[in-house]
Formats: sequence, structure tokens, C-alpha cells
Amino acid sequence: MSRRVIIAGGGIGGLAAAVALDRAGLDVQVYERAPVFAEAGAGMSLWPNATRILRSWGLLDAVMAVGEPVSSFDLLRPTGAAISEIPMGVGDSPAVCLHRADLHRILRQALSPGQLNPSRILTSFHEGEDGRVTARFGDGGEASGEGLIGADGVGSVVRERLHGRASPVYRGYTIWRGIARGVGVQGKGHISETWGSGQRFGVMPIGGGQVCWYATRNGPAGRPDGPGGRQQEILELFRGWHNPVADLVAATDPVQILKNDARDLPPLSSWGSGCVSLLGDAAHPITPNVGQGACMAIEDAAILAKCLAAEPDTRVALRAYERARRPRTAYVSRQSNRVGAIGQFENPLLVGARDLVARAFLWASHDMAFNSVYAFQV
Ligand SMILES: Cc1cc2nc3c(=O)[nH]c(=O)nc-3n(C[C@H](O)[C@H](O)[C@H](O)COP(=O)(O)OP(=O)(O)OC[C@H]3O[C@@H](n4cnc5c(N)ncnc54)[C@H](O)[C@@H]3O)c2cc1C
Repeated sequence: MSRRVIIAGGGIGGLAAAVALDRAGLDVQVYERAPVFAEAGAGMSLWPNATRILRSWGLLDAVMAVGEPVSSFDLLRPTGAAISEIPMGVGDSPAVCLHRADLHRILRQALSPGQLNPSRILTSFHEGEDGRVTARFGDGGEASGEGLIGADGVGSVVRERLHGRASPVYRGYTIWRGIARGVGVQGKGHISETWGSGQRFGVMPIGGGQVCWYATRNGPAGRPDGPGGRQQEILELFRGWHNPVADLVAATDPVQILKNDARDLPPLSSWGSGCVSLLGDAAHPITPNVGQGACMAIEDAAILAKCLAAEPDTRVALRAYERARRPRTAYVSRQSNRVGAIGQFENPLLVGARDLVARAFLWASHDMAFNSVYAFQV
């Protein structure tokens, strides 16, 4: 009989892990606290390190069928003048932007309904001396297997049980996201980010005539919406910025505009113990500046499956997985914070100096991304 692995959390990370383990011949069950397996949120980018893995699972065609391939990443000034245009889509695997719900659905459909257990909130777990772990759920039920993977997001119960309660670090800026329909953007396959003073605006076509945008602004954590509401506040903050910034914000259903504080957690020095480990945001929540959080979860999933397939002792396999993943995810997290800190410069001297060297900086970041992040092979 194949080894059973229990996954707590059915987000992109948990489902990616389930697909990878299923493909590797393991017996996998996903337990999700929500009553239905679904993903809301806005758009997202998937870079070549993740699309290469999705192709190996046979899922890339479905992703490309709904998403929008990325051919260029453009860094702009608030006037719309280009600082730099970085060609994308030149390697062996594409970059693509799509709705998060589409990726979630594609992963879900790669599994059988019998592997998906909704309305099951993991509350605790217990490891026996027989090398098995038993997960306990809020409804009083239990499930046991040879391994437990906490893919239960930034507020992970599994992580808290292993390491104590974590306090996310606020990185000093708010992020709004939305999806607009019916607004034309220039340049097929171009995504862009515009850098101002303490604020940025990003534009990503995600397929199906939809354009995902995001906006950032320095300020205190937990800032309430302005008196005119969220949409009005963003329109005022970005007044005078190039087209189609205002059109995108105005064409978005105000109740669908999401707002997050930019937060992450410092890298853990160890992830799991015994036959329990972590994956995705539960292990390494990353600020979104390089669009790699879900990509890292997909990489985690592929490496987890490789380690479990290669090593019959689950505990040994999980430590090998963690050794492979900790340095890389910590590196990407640091890079993301660096890009975010520079993009959010507000001091006029720093902004001026940044804009003078932005072109060189972007190309250096691009080389770093191509050579180390995007080039990842399982
Ligand atoms: C503004 C923003 C933009 C982003 N853009 C990108 C991007 O462009 N590209 C990219 O790659 N990444 C991006 N990310 C990061 C990406 O969204 C996350 O890294 C990714 O979604 C993490 O997936 P996950 O499955 O690990 O966690 P989650 O998505 O948080 O999923 C965790 C799941 O576990 C469930 N759960 C929680 N507790 C329990 C429990 N006790 N029992 C059972 N189930 C439980 C939850 O309901 C949820 O379904 C962005 C993030 C943000 C905030």
C-alpha cells in the first residue's frame, strides 16, 4: 500500500503539493477548513520556475489557455515614460498572468473529488512512536498517515504547534488590488510597474479581457479606508499618473478592491520535525514584490514529491526537502523585500538617486531573476 500523506490547507500550495504527491504515486488527502475548495483574490503572475513545473504535471496548457503570456516587463515613471523594458518569454518556459481562481481550479481538477475534504479545520496533531501522525479536526474527527504537511497559510496551525505563534513583520506599505474589465492596455503581453514617491502602481492583463492592477502606498499598518471609500482614496493618491491608471481603478467594482498590509515572516531556521513539515506561506510567507509566493509553493510541492519518492523513510525525506527549500525561499524573500523597499522610497534624494540608477538596477535584478530564480529545475 502506498504511503498516505495528509495535507492541511487547500490553497494553491496545498493543492500543488497534492498534485505533485499524487503524480509521484503517494496516497494523498487534502483537508481544507472552508466549506468549498475555492480561491478568491485577484490576479497573479507565474514565472518560468513555476510554469516549468506545471508543464511537468501536464497542467501548463490549461494555464496558458486561460491566462495571458507575458512578453515584457516595463518599469515606468508616473508620466508613463519607460525607465526600462525587460523582454520576457525568451527561455524554455513562459511567464503568464492569470486569475488566482483559475490556477486553483486547474490544480483542483487534477485531483479526484475523493482526495478533497472541505469543512475540515485542523486543530492539532499527534505523532505516534509507530512513525504515523494523526491530525485532529474541529469536528472531532481524525485522519492519520505517514506524513502531515501544513499548507495552511500564514496563520498556520501546524506552524504554531511546531514553533509557537508567529508575529508577521509589517514592511511599511499598504497594497490594494483589483480586476478591471473593458479597459484597453497598450502592448500585448506587456505588464508594467510604475514607481513614484512612496507609491507604486502595477498593471497585469490576466486573460479574458480582464486586467489586474495593484497599488501601494507607504503608511501605518491597518490604516482605515479614506472617508470617500477605498476606490476614491486610490484615485486621489494616483491622480495625474499616466493612462490607464485612473481608468483601471474607476472600472473596478469598489467592493471587489482588496487591501492588504505588506507583511511577511523572517525565515525559520527549521521547518518541521518527525513526520510533519510545512509548505507554501505556512513555511515562508513572502511579500508580493517579485510575484513569487505561489511560485515558491509550487517549487516546494515538486521538491517534496521528489524527496518522498526517493526516500522510503518519511522523516528522512522531509528533512531532505526542508534542507533543499530553506535557503532558496529565504533568498527569494530577501530579494522581494529589497525590491519593495527600493520601490517604496519616499525621501526625494533617495527617489532621485533611485530613478537615476533604476535602469541598471532593473537589469541587474533581471539577471539575478533569470540566472537564479527563473532557471530553477527540479
Ligand atoms: C497582494 C499579493 C499579491 C500576490 N501576488 C503573487 C503573484 O503574482 N505570484 C505569486 O506567485 N504569488 C503571489 N502572491 C503570494 C501568493 O498569493 C501566496 O504565496 C500563495 O497564495 C500561498 O498559498 P498557500 O496555499 O501556501 O497559502 P493560502 O493561499 O493562504 O492557503 C492556505 C489554505 O489553508 C486553509 N487553512 C487555513 N487554516 C486551516 C486549518 N487549520 N485547517 C485546514 N485548512 C486551513 C485556508 O482556508 C486556505 O485555503 C501574492 C500575495 C499577495 C498578498
